[in-house]
Amino acid sequence: MCDKTVQFSVICNMLDAVARSKKNALKRKHLRTFLDHVYTDHEFYSALRLILPGLDKERGTYGLKEAVLGKCIAEALGLSKDSEDAKKLVNWKKGMNGGNFPLVGAEILHRRQSSSSGKLTIEHVNDYLDKLAAAENRDAKTNILSELIKKTNAHEMRWIIMFILKELKLGISEKTILHEFHPDAEDLFNVTCDLKMVSEKLKDRNQRFKRQDIIVGKPVRPQLASRVSGVEEAWKKLRGKRIVAECKFDGDRIQIHKDGNEVHFYSRSFIDHQEYTDGMSSVIINQIKVEKCILDGEMLVWNRLTNRFAEFGSNQEVARASKNGLVSDQQLCFVAFDILYCGDCSVTHQSLSERQILLKQVVQPLKGSLELLLPGNGCGLKDQPLWSMLVQSPEEINKFFLETVENRDEGIVLKDLDSKWEPGDRSGKWIKLKPDYVHAESDLDALIIGCYLRSGNCGGEIGQFLLGIAEKSRQGSHPTRFLSFCKVGSGLSHDERDVLVNKLKPYLREVGKNTKPPSFYVVTNHAKERPDFWVEQPEKSFILEITSDIRTIKSEVFAAPYSLRFPRTNRIRYDKPWYDCLDVDSLVQLIHCHNGN
Ligand code: ATP
Repeated sequence: MCDKTVQFSVICNMLDAVARSKKNALKRKHLRTFLDHVYTDHEFYSALRLILPGLDKERGTYGLKEAVLGKCIAEALGLSKDSEDAKKLVNWKKGMNGGNFPLVGAEILHRRQSSSSGKLTIEHVNDYLDKLAAAENRDAKTNILSELIKKTNAHEMRWIIMFILKELKLGISEKTILHEFHPDAEDLFNVTCDLKMVSEKLKDRNQRFKRQDIIVGKPVRPQLASRVSGVEEAWKKLRGKRIVAECKFDGDRIQIHKDGNEVHFYSRSFIDHQEYTDGMSSVIINQIKVEKCILDGEMLVWNRLTNRFAEFGSNQEVARASKNGLVSDQQLCFVAFDILYCGDCSVTHQSLSERQILLKQVVQPLKGSLELLLPGNGCGLKDQPLWSMLVQSPEEINKFFLETVENRDEGIVLKDLDSKWEPGDRSGKWIKLKPDYVHAESDLDALIIGCYLRSGNCGGEIGQFLLGIAEKSRQGSHPTRFLSFCKVGSGLSHDERDVLVNKLKPYLREVGKNTKPPSFYVVTNHAKERPDFWVEQPEKSFILEITSDIRTIKSEVFAAPYSLRFPRTNRIRYDKPWYDCLDVDSLVQLIHCHNGN
């Protein structure tokens, strides 16, 4: 049989068998049989791009998540908005097949479609999917879906829906599927991220492929980090190794490929983000001293006024502003933490410390535009933590972690300085530590009783809050005394913090050398912590909901018997009155409960 005439129903039956089989070996066998006996001309790409939709970048995105897809299918079927079935599609998370959109869709289609296959070939379905991805608006997409519905049955449409959502729920990994196709497929895909090329180059399973190196212009699967629950676990894994601790920046992971004056910005999912071209290409061309190069790093936004990175989420907006020539205080900034290719060859086989030397040699940093994440580097401000440093003990890691989290960064990444850079590897050469993993989630509501100014260029701005908890009051009356409990700076966006500070400002009293705390704040001998401002009237203050690790509570400088190590604000509880904050008795009870006494 010619590959172009392979019926779509054949691949649907194979996918059904794979999904239904419980054992991995059986799943693999179904896949193997299909590949060996159906694809005689070896035109594997048309099948592989359906089986591995997440890896196929030729087609681009459909712009159809469940909600919109549901509406399009309802329209394609001519359902009125108020009909039971249209509602089922929109409310796909509820009901019998709740949470499984393809099943909800298939159930509705089943009653309307013919039960026999429409005899489409795999080739036809790919053509339709190409058209669907290219269609510019919802009406055009609905028309294509309507044609597909006419030419398939509900069983086939269920798989088409899964291709569109790029989630096949087969119960086997991409790795296994690639391996079943060809033993070298994963390796080749990792360094090219090109499923078409993999399908074409590896047609013969018995012919081994010479290991290919990375190439400038082809995205490489990024090296990833494994997670640990705390410093102790990280230390256990990295003990005896030379370790660098780096700040975990919260931006977009981007691989920059420079080939002369041509620059590409590949995301983690191999998409070329050309929107970064206007803001970044000339910086890359001017600051990199070699013709060909691949840098690995994080794309962020730098605020020239505050001399800090902006909160996550503004990259696209800033890229657009730069494209439109708008002047702003914000600019794109690439933080390079690795180099994968330099001059005329790949350098991934060299150790991280060797690559760091190379990075320093070939990249000329440019303040706020192109930064290097090398040991000892930081934003250059006094009182601001470094972005990267060599660490030799759990205590040093802990200190770096605390400072980084305090600075409202996402966490840290620990790296083995002697390790190679390996595409797609998450085996533990890089380890990430984030406050969320350290916390045994527990939400506590505490009252703001003081504020701290920031130092450095942001001096004069309030950046942190001193939080208090109440002394238990008599039933029916409001608390009158509060104990300092913890200090928190992270979790709020700039805007949220500005609004909050403006509301508090009229009630702030600056703390001088001899200023006594307002009488309702309990002062004890060990409670040495003093803010820059007290909130003069607790009844004018606000409650912050804090997430923290209840297991690691201890109090050193606060009046409360316990404190929090990595507090992070979840939200401001404008809805909760000041007197409803946590009280000391409840806190003690909570901790005893957690400790099992
Ligand atoms: P997360 O959701 O925690 O960011 P993830 O699954 O996106 O995790 P991981 O591989 O687990 O990705 O964590 C590494 C990611 O952290 C990288 O993809 C990159 O985007 C980001 N990152 C930020 N700073 C660094 C750094 N210094 N070194 C490596 N990765 C960093």
